[in-house]
Amino acid sequence: MNNWFTVEKIDDITYAISEYKHWEETHCYLLIGDNKSLLIDTGLGIGNIKDVVCKLTNKEIQVVTTHAHWDHIGGHKYFKNIYIYYKEHKWLKEKFPIPLEVVKNNIIAKPCDFPDYFDINKYEIFRAESIKKLYDIDEIDLGNRIIKIIPTPGHSPGHICFYDIKKKYLFSGDLIYKGKLDIFYPTTNPVDFLQSIRNVKKLDIYKVLPGHHEINISATLVDDIDKGLTSLFEEGKLKHGQGIFKFDNFTIHV
Ligand SMILES: [Zn+2]
Repeated sequence: MNNWFTVEKIDDITYAISEYKHWEETHCYLLIGDNKSLLIDTGLGIGNIKDVVCKLTNKEIQVVTTHAHWDHIGGHKYFKNIYIYYKEHKWLKEKFPIPLEVVKNNIIAKPCDFPDYFDINKYEIFRAESIKKLYDIDEIDLGNRIIKIIPTPGHSPGHICFYDIKKKYLFSGDLIYKGKLDIFYPTTNPVDFLQSIRNVKKLDIYKVLPGHHEINISATLVDDIDKGLTSLFEEGKLKHGQGIFKFDNFTIHV
């Protein structure tokens, strides 16, 4: 029995599949439509997420990626029908920007209750030839359920959020969560990140479903992050190398 993952029901056709036993506390989301199911991100790749997904849906599964960082693509290896935004396509197909050893050190960095079957020496960064591309205008039709692509660069150059039009859910990846928002390393862009926050604010959001940490977050967190980033921008601190800034429900590492 695979107890690495925790499954939480958001509603009758939406599930969170989470890895609370790891410090990253990643969330993947399964969205079930009338015709097919969509899996947003696949987590760390420590347990077999496909086993969990197949217990929740028997429909065809399409995998989409908020961004190509290791903690969101670990379980891609279990699936065939995988999509990523075109700007990060080459990270999955050719070269991931972070060396394998750095990724491995991140995985084992903090205390973590790994399952017995997991062997860090066998860990590899996912890469495949047959990944398909998503573009700005794409809408994913699951059958009576349409999911829009919202480009949100900043945390990574091709980061996207997914917006469920009918339910007004925003699947925010690493753009919005309660915790440390990372926009400090070379492939990040802090000013793009602020612009992305302002862009998603234009959406009518009922629920934000984040990529990490606490799952029940208020949609007002978007405003709070906007205010925090705006204050840093106005002080000339929204650029690399400025350090870590703490706010009430989140931290910005720039
Ligand atoms: Zn992440």
